Amino acid sequence: MVATLYSTNLRSPDVDLKGALLQGQAPDKGLYMPREIPQIPLDEIAEFRDKAYAEIAFAVLKRYTQGLIPDDDLMRLCTECYNYDVPLEKVSDRNYLMRLDQGPTASFKDFAARMMARMMRYFLAQEGGELAILTATSGDTGSAVAHAFHNVDRISMVVLFPIKEVSDRQRKQMTTLGGNVTVIGIDGQFDDCQALVKRAFADPELKHIRFSSANSINIGRLLPQAVYYLYAWARLQENGESAIISVPSGNFGDICGGLIAHRMGLPVSRFVIATNANDEFPKFVATGRYEKIVPSRVCISNAMNVGHPSNLPRLVALYGGVMDEQGKVEKEPDFAAMRGDIYSVSINDEGTRKAIKDAWSGYKTMLEPHGAVGWAGLQRYLSSLEPRNPGTPEPLAISVETAHPAKFPEEIQRLLGVAPPLPPSLAGLDVKPEHYDKGPNDYSWFKEFLKRVFK
Ligand SMILES: *Cc1c(COP(=O)(O)O)cnc(C)c1O
Repeated sequence: MVATLYSTNLRSPDVDLKGALLQGQAPDKGLYMPREIPQIPLDEIAEFRDKAYAEIAFAVLKRYTQGLIPDDDLMRLCTECYNYDVPLEKVSDRNYLMRLDQGPTASFKDFAARMMARMMRYFLAQEGGELAILTATSGDTGSAVAHAFHNVDRISMVVLFPIKEVSDRQRKQMTTLGGNVTVIGIDGQFDDCQALVKRAFADPELKHIRFSSANSINIGRLLPQAVYYLYAWARLQENGESAIISVPSGNFGDICGGLIAHRMGLPVSRFVIATNANDEFPKFVATGRYEKIVPSRVCISNAMNVGHPSNLPRLVALYGGVMDEQGKVEKEPDFAAMRGDIYSVSINDEGTRKAIKDAWSGYKTMLEPHGAVGWAGLQRYLSSLEPRNPGTPEPLAISVETAHPAKFPEEIQRLLGVAPPLPPSLAGLDVKPEHYDKGPNDYSWFKEFLKRVFK
């Protein structure tokens, strides 16, 4: 049976995974979610302990791809995507850090972007079609997505970035790829880049090009993020106990992957959703009222500077509510159930810096600003618990580290007095030749550019 997906705005027809992947957003501007979340029996999850990451990804994703991608093909995609380590670092007793930073751009976004790109290619090959991915980026997303689509046939990619607002290292992660990845530095801000992309999507004169956006609302960027939670639990659990899992969150794609893993059968006693000073979600959980933060607050965990998380309608839908794309709550979620599963906390920059220093001085564990928000959130939750009775074991706790410290060398150097070691994925970047165009913040220029690239 082929799994169906519905739109969280409830005004679009159901689609299968292929439709959801290639469309991205539903026509009613809602987000696609599986109608039914498939179950994995607990003994099968426990057996993941001895399986390679790619095999676990296969076992999880096949439950969504049945009838669309034959098992052999899916296994091949998983092996292609997950050819790097996923370290589980012990910090203290039963507290662990899951480092999702060993992929090609040293960001957890590699996990889902790589799988989404390959699934898109797979479905396009069936149809004989081609796709142009157009995306605006302020940093991390652009490089993860560009790497994911690099050398993937049937797909070409155009990335726009604000030329003055991206760090050298971030720029080089995009501009040293070449091939099917075209990069344009725009003389403007991120919002200008975003506006150019949106106009191109809607332009009838560019109708001959089949565009897609590949941003974080695509279901293909979500489902692969359920996998690492199952992987970590299976390896760390000792007798089937439930875990506490802490996730530093911005647009809430990562945490939605965790919540879906939980619905699939992962034993979790509490998810800690840690945000930076953009505290619209912790307030929503506490008060039941949602107010987005405009403009979003600037924090050192810059990939989480989000005043209105784009995946929030999915989280609300998991608790029976309806939230539209603007953040209007059309039907209230079950807040009691939500508070039972979720502890949400906001950590400001001071708390983030303190967490980086404490983890280093206490345990020689190196965090970067995003993972530090998650780690500080976990400590906050653990200290809110009733003291344990003597003899009861310490609970298993896993905090997610979403990027490599070497992506933030200045901050780490300033706080810890040491330079973070470069992972292989970032080494060598400085000497690779860069290729990119520069353009004005002007739609007619951009349109002519696209017409030349896509004749
Ligand atoms: C994108 C990003 C996040 C936020 O992830 P969401 O899925 O948007 O919540 C956290 N940390 C880093 C390093 C990121 O790049």
